[in-house]
Amino acid sequence: MAFDDLYQEIILDHARHPRNKEHLDFISEDLVFENPTCGDSVKVAVDLDEKETISRVRFDGDGCAISTASASMMTEILKGMALPEALKTAATFMDIMTGDSDASLEDLGEIEALEGVRQFPQRVKCATLPWHAVEHTLQTLVKEKQRNTG
Ligand code: ZN
Repeated sequence: MAFDDLYQEIILDHARHPRNKEHLDFISEDLVFENPTCGDSVKVAVDLDEKETISRVRFDGDGCAISTASASMMTEILKGMALPEALKTAATFMDIMTGDSDASLEDLGEIEALEGVRQFPQRVKCATLPWHAVEHTLQTLVKEKQRNTG
């Protein structure tokens, strides 16, 4: 099966030993993002430091190797970013995966390993699921910030 070709070492490593995966019981079940075609589910938590830079991204949930690896790599990529930068990065990643952008994943680091997933539309949903979740959380944080300063 050609799909095995996708299981590069880097993806397997993140899938087997996901970074920043914790029980996030304080996150409402309403904020669980699901990909019913595969059975993946994920929720995320984003912590900001006093400069409103992302100090930590955590995720929780159950998913296939692709969604778990994507979530794990996402937590590492977004750490240290300001909110606008993180939102832009999430949009860029999703556009590349869905074919809406010809840009390369190269600049995003080891998540480039997921580029081969683009050939498999069902799997693209697995890869983008945690990014949809984090985008929602980031947008909520931006709105809260606007409320506080406005
Ligand atoms: Zn999946």
